[in-house]
Amino acid sequence: MPPKREATEDLASLRLKSRYSYLEKREQLKLAELQRDVEEDNEEIAKYGSNLSKRELHEMERRRQTLQLALQRAKIDDSVNTGFFIPDEANLNESKLEVLNKKNKSDVYKSEVQLWEEEQTAKARAAQTQRPGREREDDYEFVFDEQQQIKWTSDGKDLNFMDPDKQQLQAQLDEAERKAKTIQETRASLPVAQHRDTIINAVKEHRILVLMGETGSGKSTQTPQYLRDSGYCKTGKIVVSQPRRVACLNLAARVSEEVASSSNSEAGKKYKPGAHRLGGIVGYNIRFDNKSGPDTEIIFETEGMLLREILADPLLSEYSCVILDEAHERTTDGDTLMALLKDLSRARPDDFRLVISSATLNAQKFSAYFDDAPILAVAGRTFEVERFYLPSPEANYLSATVTTIFTIHLAAPLDGDILCFLTGSDEILAAMENIQETSRKLGSRMKELIVRPLYSQLDPDEQALVFVPTPKGARKVILATNIAETSLTVDGVSYVIDCGYTKENQYNATTDMSQLVVVPCSRASVNQRAGRAGRQRKGSAFHLFTKFSYFNEMEEETVPEIMRVDLTPLCLLLKSLQINDVLNFGFMDPPPPATLAKALENLYALGALNDTGALTSVGRKLIEMPIDAKLARAILAADEFKVVDEVLVIAAMLSESATLFLRPKDKKVHADAARNRFVQESGGDHMLLLSVFNAWRDAEYDPIFAKENFLQQRTLNRCRDVYEQLGALCDRIEVQRSSNPGDHVGIKKALVAGYFQNAARMARDGQSYRTIKTGQTVAIHPSSCLHEPTRRPKLMLFHELVLTSREFARNCMPIESEWLMSAAPHYYKKED
Ligand code: ADP
Repeated sequence: MPPKREATEDLASLRLKSRYSYLEKREQLKLAELQRDVEEDNEEIAKYGSNLSKRELHEMERRRQTLQLALQRAKIDDSVNTGFFIPDEANLNESKLEVLNKKNKSDVYKSEVQLWEEEQTAKARAAQTQRPGREREDDYEFVFDEQQQIKWTSDGKDLNFMDPDKQQLQAQLDEAERKAKTIQETRASLPVAQHRDTIINAVKEHRILVLMGETGSGKSTQTPQYLRDSGYCKTGKIVVSQPRRVACLNLAARVSEEVASSSNSEAGKKYKPGAHRLGGIVGYNIRFDNKSGPDTEIIFETEGMLLREILADPLLSEYSCVILDEAHERTTDGDTLMALLKDLSRARPDDFRLVISSATLNAQKFSAYFDDAPILAVAGRTFEVERFYLPSPEANYLSATVTTIFTIHLAAPLDGDILCFLTGSDEILAAMENIQETSRKLGSRMKELIVRPLYSQLDPDEQALVFVPTPKGARKVILATNIAETSLTVDGVSYVIDCGYTKENQYNATTDMSQLVVVPCSRASVNQRAGRAGRQRKGSAFHLFTKFSYFNEMEEETVPEIMRVDLTPLCLLLKSLQINDVLNFGFMDPPPPATLAKALENLYALGALNDTGALTSVGRKLIEMPIDAKLARAILAADEFKVVDEVLVIAAMLSESATLFLRPKDKKVHADAARNRFVQESGGDHMLLLSVFNAWRDAEYDPIFAKENFLQQRTLNRCRDVYEQLGALCDRIEVQRSSNPGDHVGIKKALVAGYFQNAARMARDGQSYRTIKTGQTVAIHPSSCLHEPTRRPKLMLFHELVLTSREFARNCMPIESEWLMSAAPHYYKKED
């Protein structure tokens, strides 16, 4: 044994300790230093060999491996010569960090991500030959392989993210400009600002004005403020109607902020405390959520809520001005408002003003309809948008959307966010998951990509995130439904990806059934969507369809909703307004007579109209409830069976059931088991929803209960809100809040009284069902608790039909045929 072994050992362990701290802190070392350390280690091994402890040997081995790896990396990467990290012990594990030989290249380090990508590339290459027949989403894993990427075509040009240097510079300038602008400067820079006086004068001189301008030009946010500034709020309120709830919330928040900022600069004006909070000077009113008060001067309302106000006060005497925004959307409620407001404007020529605001070019049609009202066209500042199409149709637009997002994100400079149009929240959530997964796999090879969803059922705070400016060094991708087509404008978008489809509600008067269907959108929609890319600078639009489809398979304009939906609610409303000749009511485009006739027949079946077509007391009560007439009818029937509380819960839960149950990919079995615990014997989905709500109520609305049972607390909260508001409305229809949770038959019979038309009997095959009245084939939706073959009833009632791969009935419950007969003898008299 060498003489000074002990002293040397101490010294060695000290040095080891200090190296440990190196390793723990993962300090940067010079290659030369590590080489020297390893040389010393080798000397020690030669000297003391088997006398070294296991731990010392382990440490030395770790340094040796690190050096080897670093030397190999140095061959391919110059930066190693200036410094590198000693990896954690875990990272020396061969499965995590592998050294591989690659043909035509020197030895290259491959991270897990790189290895995964290679595997995917190989998979994609193999799959390439089968590509045309590919249907399943799982087969389409995303890779950034040249062959996998979409080959875009434009008019003779290839996809080329133009002049990155120039774009970068422009982005920096834009960013600096945006930061420097105050709210008031932003307002002044909007295209409508140049027409402020013209708008004010035109409204002063004409009863009705048609205001036409590009989306984002400032029509919705500025016009009400201009009118307020010129004194219209002194004689009444200004109401701005919107087709969508989400737009009401956003616009009210924005305008409230703008009003607060402008009145801060108005010296000497005295405002009550709280006047500038949302619900003060500026408010909103949407179904089940009214934020307005006695000081409210500008109010954003959904079209449906404004119609209800007309019902209560046909002259809208509280209002001096109505701005009918997004008139181009041509919703049924919007079209009805146009007809009613046209009359109202004739009745109040001196103290009422109507502004019809539209984002498209068919202003002439509006003008002609409104007694030749003048048109004011606001020239928007728009930039060129280069448009790319697919060379051949793509079967899976969801995957193609994700592919395109990453193609842009990896190739184009970081200025300019991406806006994608998909058809619904389900697709948006699926795409989000896909993007997040791919981003994780790409890791640090990719700059930050912030994903923001935008659809109508989204919470207001989540929705507001869409407007948060993108931080430097990142890109935002917004996944939106057609809500972002004209209703909401998000700044900073340079790339639009459009799937070319939209979800539409379609009604078939023959079968008396409505369904949500995904259909190709119109050319007008496609153009609007593309235009979103060119609001602030030149942009690009990627259409996930061929140019041939654009010209040959898409309609010129979207068919107005009134031509293709169930008109039962509309007829009930018109009857309540004493408009008896519904067929000849002055709509801009008259609805199909067959649909109107069916609607009157349905109202009669519900007991809302009598033999002479006049509104009954039941009809008057149904219109009081801001819900579907069938559901309102069920609540009235619940009063007879003394189960009102239970039916109110079911009514509230039905409206939210699509987003209630969570089913995480890795916990499907647990989630299904949790849900099955709520299934009631012979109950069906309605009773399941009731028992979920009751259990949550018994748990005092506890979020932990929701989490443990794979339920969305947020959805439950919304249900509770709707339930409470429906409860509060019961007084108005003289319904007592009775409750009898054990009377399942009573609850079901009450629901049958509203939904008797939606009854279906099991077909001979024991699988599918046929609707009793029209013989239409439907299947129980896989999300239903009755989907399992053992639970399928002979006769069922369903809440709605959805068309995906086939016709599915969603939210079903077993019923008895006598219940149908006693609920609607006049309807079923010919049957059975
Ligand atoms: P239009 O009605 O003509 O489509 P808007 O008045 O809705 O235009 O929008 C004008 C501008 O206000 C747009 O540039 C939009 O981005 C901006 N804006 C609207 N809402 C918000 C918000 N919540 N936060 C920030 N900017 C907003």
